[in-house]
Amino acid sequence: MLLRHTDDKIIERSALTINPAKTCQPIGAMYAALGIHRCLPHSHGSQGCCAYHRSALTRHYKEPVMAGTSSFTEGASVFGGQANLLEAINNIFTIYKPDVIAVHTTCLSETIGDDIAQISSKAQEEGKIPPGKYVIRASTPSYVGSHVTGFGNMVKGMVEGFSAASDTLENQINVIPGYVEPSDMAEIKRILNEMQIKAVVFPDTSEVLNTPQTGKYEMYPKGGTTIPELRSTGRSRRTFALGQIASGPAAKLLDTKCKVPCTLLNLPIGLRNTDIFLESLRQQTGAGVPDSLRLERGQLLDVITDMHQYLYGKKVALVGDPDHLVALTQFLKDLDMDVRHVVTGTPGKKFVTRIQEITGPKVNAFEAKDMFHFHQLIKQERVDLILGNTYAKYIARDEDIPLVRMGFPIYDRIGHQYFPLVGYRGALRLLEKMLSALMDRQDRDAAEESFELVM
Ligand code: SF4
Repeated sequence: MLLRHTDDKIIERSALTINPAKTCQPIGAMYAALGIHRCLPHSHGSQGCCAYHRSALTRHYKEPVMAGTSSFTEGASVFGGQANLLEAINNIFTIYKPDVIAVHTTCLSETIGDDIAQISSKAQEEGKIPPGKYVIRASTPSYVGSHVTGFGNMVKGMVEGFSAASDTLENQINVIPGYVEPSDMAEIKRILNEMQIKAVVFPDTSEVLNTPQTGKYEMYPKGGTTIPELRSTGRSRRTFALGQIASGPAAKLLDTKCKVPCTLLNLPIGLRNTDIFLESLRQQTGAGVPDSLRLERGQLLDVITDMHQYLYGKKVALVGDPDHLVALTQFLKDLDMDVRHVVTGTPGKKFVTRIQEITGPKVNAFEAKDMFHFHQLIKQERVDLILGNTYAKYIARDEDIPLVRMGFPIYDRIGHQYFPLVGYRGALRLLEKMLSALMDRQDRDAAEESFELVM
């Protein structure tokens, strides 16, 4: 009973977080930056921040995650980090030769007020940025927002740094896939390919954070959105932003900066959200939905129909990132499951309304809350299944409730890098994971006389 001190009585807390249900903005910014081909993320702050952010991503993806740091010491903390960042930009382009350095700030550099735009201009004036190379930036103070807002800010930084308006449009669309796994980004590209739609997907961490073992270390793997692709996003016909918190800010900026209209959608997790994604693509581009995708949809629908009895009425608690939770809640509701508790650590006032629009008002939905609060809700009303990241395993163990891992971070299982949760295939995988968890529990708890071979 690791969490035996968690009490079911909820007392309002305003100045204390116990086991946060989110992590630092720079982690999201670093992850997004890795979705640019030949990009080295750079953390403008102390070495400790950078080491933590790299290790969080490395543990989740089981891949080495590289990033530079401005290595603040006492001097930089008092007088500002300009000298450190100028030297870092020079060193990184000279030694590691990336095409892009993506600078994100940290709590410390934000608090002392370092102006990254001004420092980047100075680096340009002093010739520290070689021709054809770029420095982009994002403001990511961790005392506001979460890793999801950090991701959104860095994707917005890509639009600020690369997208250029033009009167001549390309016959292509932009897709901002949201804070999803490399496998999800690959699946979104596969769906677009099946529909024969030319698209720039950015960022794109597929084949960056799920690379094959070749025996040779590649500092810049072959995946990632290229600079020409990023520059062309201002000439696309429309942007599809998947996940409002992670992808919305960049899509809206593309609209105001380059007049590329945008469609904001939920992450395509589950049958209905994937249907909406495909239908929007079809309507806006005129592309048809091929038989291959209709087959996948039909297979998903078949499994939902066959296994409905094992899902119907099952109480579920969800903890994670807001874009995921909105899409997942819709999927679970469509499966006739009973979503009881939905908690995100990311702040965002519309979150609760969006969940309640799907479930009705009786759900316990909270934004900007912690794992302790989530545990208290489960203590007040027990559920049959928990969906959440690795940190939810402590609650699942103490309460003896099956856990399906999803979201970020997942430190103690593999699969998320390689098998998507988005699209019809992803929904099938999620369904299989939930059914396995519920049916394993049914087997474990069954009395001998009702322990069935065929369930
Ligand atoms: S919370 Fe702030 S100081 Fe702490 S690791 Fe994150 S960015 Fe660094």
